[in-house]
Amino acid sequence: MLKKLFQSLRSPLRRAKQHPRSTPEVVTSHQHPLRRAHISRYAVSIVERLQNAGYQAYLVGGCVRDLLLDIEPKDFDVATSATPEQVRAEFRNARVIGRRFKLVHVHFGREIIEVATFRANHPVSEEDEDSNQSSRNESGRILRDNVYGSLEDDAQRRDFTINALYFDVTGERILDYARGMHDIRNRQVRLIGDPEKRYLEDPVRMLRAVRFAAKLDFEIESHSAEPIPRLAKMLRDIPSARLFDEVLKLFLSGYAEHVFELLLEYDLFEPLFPASAAALKQSPEYTYNLISQALINTDQRIEDGKPVTPAFLFAALLWPALPARVIKLQDRGMPPIPAMQEAAHELIAEQCQRIAVPKRFTIPIREIWDMQERLPRRSGKRADLLLENPRFRAGYDFLLLRESAGEKTNGLGDWWTDYQDCTDSERRAMIRELAANPDETGSAPRKRRRGGNRKRGATPSPAQD
Ligand code: ATP
Ligand code: MG
Repeated sequence: MLKKLFQSLRSPLRRAKQHPRSTPEVVTSHQHPLRRAHISRYAVSIVERLQNAGYQAYLVGGCVRDLLLDIEPKDFDVATSATPEQVRAEFRNARVIGRRFKLVHVHFGREIIEVATFRANHPVSEEDEDSNQSSRNESGRILRDNVYGSLEDDAQRRDFTINALYFDVTGERILDYARGMHDIRNRQVRLIGDPEKRYLEDPVRMLRAVRFAAKLDFEIESHSAEPIPRLAKMLRDIPSARLFDEVLKLFLSGYAEHVFELLLEYDLFEPLFPASAAALKQSPEYTYNLISQALINTDQRIEDGKPVTPAFLFAALLWPALPARVIKLQDRGMPPIPAMQEAAHELIAEQCQRIAVPKRFTIPIREIWDMQERLPRRSGKRADLLLENPRFRAGYDFLLLRESAGEKTNGLGDWWTDYQDCTDSERRAMIRELAANPDETGSAPRKRRRGGNRKRGATPSPAQD
């Protein structure tokens, strides 16, 4: 009884602290460049439909932020006071998705507009701590995030100030509850509320801070930056499937090189890629060069509108971690080829504990790596068979990547570049030449080595640096 009374006396204070601003700054159309003409007509029509039905509805999040920065938004998100069922009742082409927290997807051909009901932060109360249905774990991480709320609540539960801007398409006004316009102008990524607490609630916000800083070329505001290295290890507790999604957004959005720098700067790389981080310590120059070159290439391909695959990316991120394992297994007496196979298997399995890379990508990672063992062996018909292999292109690109990071391959990349370009008779000449210079090419029939001799295969040497 007393506890309840105490709680009710304390809760307004807590609320005040959690909700620093309950009336928004209203930014009128004279004060900002955003016009409804810039917005997907489907999104506009959803907002208007909901408003006509008597609900509040706004565009929110990344689309408002990006349009203010003259970036084309990836998608348009709508926030509304209508519940998912009420939203669905308004639209024929709507589907309720999500189990933990329901959202509505409204489909217009290929375009999908996501409509979310206003949500509130889960309060931290003694009641919550007492109950075994707690919405947070002992470090404050939000486990359940399923309370509807008001527009004000919705603004406060968002991560960064620049993501909490609401655009009213009818009045062309922006509602700013968290000084997001100020941070857009000053190019700052700033958490709403107490940074440490917000990272503890959801450690993935640390990755999001890095992602937005890289994408928008913003600074992470100093108070929001300060706790990150300290809390980075909290990422280890995040479900591996969620981390896979986040890592793809980090590395496959066209600004991966910048992301990598920031992950290193904030100690976020180690909890995501522990084996690669160890390789970075062991052979810093080679590992750093290989990974950043892979990311530079990825960014370039995205800019050129070429396809990119997570398999190539993970193959590159993990490759520098292979040799240490191969050597360990060889020292235990395993012959080179099986040692390489086993090391690859172990490394991928271990990485998947952190980041759940699906099978459809781990299989091609292995194939790209296997190609590295096969590309030096070109005698007889082998070269032509390799050219026909569906994994040839990725394997060849990977070889060039290794070379660009300083691996010595005896001109193998150039050889394959020439081989692809030339006529049949020239190809035959190239193969004959190989047979004449067996030492140079590694293509001569090998003598079987006995004993536990280490062989330098395609795996990078750890002593590169
Ligand atoms: P983009 O789509 O360009 O990656 P975005 O800001 O739209 O950026 P989403 O992941 O689509 O990012 O999320 C939409 C909005 O939901 C965000 O702008 C933010 O307001 C809110 N949000 C997303 N994830 C979180 C989180 N972990 N904590 C708090 N708010 C979040
Ligand atoms: Mg978005």
